[in-house]
Amino acid sequence: MNSLRITVWGENVHEHRSSKVKEIYPQGMHAAIARGIAGLLPSAEVTTATLQEPEHGLTAQRLAETDVLTWWGHLAHEQVADEVVRRVQARVLEGMGLIVLHSGHYSKVFRQLMGTTCSLTWREADERERLWVCNPGHPIARGLGRYFELPREEMYGEPFAIPAPEEQVFVSWFEGGDVFRSGCCWRRGNGSIFYFRPGHEAYPTFHDPNVLRVIANAAEWARPRGAWVDSCPNVKEPPERISPK
Ligand code: ZN
Repeated sequence: MNSLRITVWGENVHEHRSSKVKEIYPQGMHAAIARGIAGLLPSAEVTTATLQEPEHGLTAQRLAETDVLTWWGHLAHEQVADEVVRRVQARVLEGMGLIVLHSGHYSKVFRQLMGTTCSLTWREADERERLWVCNPGHPIARGLGRYFELPREEMYGEPFAIPAPEEQVFVSWFEGGDVFRSGCCWRRGNGSIFYFRPGHEAYPTFHDPNVLRVIANAAEWARPRGAWVDSCPNVKEPPERISPK
């Protein structure tokens, strides 16, 4: 099997505005995610791209050379160029995997691919989060126990305005009593999409070994299973002769 080419995309804005975030992620969240999953997937080629790069680092060539893209954004969703969103969507439909993290639920890319608002309820109250594994046999849950916990996270709660997931891997419970569908799978065209909830910028969530394990597992699960470049040809020559009527 060819080595998996993973591009970790980061908005990279909070890290430059908040000293608290900078302290947790001195090189940016994208760098922490990339380093973490590279350690778990030694044969993968893991690179990063950010909003600030030309074409947000997601040129047609870069996307053509990406098997799985991970996406974290929050403050600057509207700054992502529509052309880049269309390009990412087209690559997912062709077969590229996409992993959307935390506040990426409101990214243009995710909403475009889901076709719904992707709204949810939220609260910042330093709550404990328990992520229950709904399907222990799922490849994304490999290596986990019945559940794992994050000592402090932002709360995301239902209703979560997504299309019904094709597979549910995690459900979260929060200290305040809310629950949330926190690990959801879909297929769009030939591409696999996984939404994973944790990852608020004010907490060291992307240093957590279970969180990194899930993202690495998801990258392997989302590996392209084939490619179909979109076209809509007029096939004038039928495979069989059509008898005149
Ligand atoms: Zn957040």
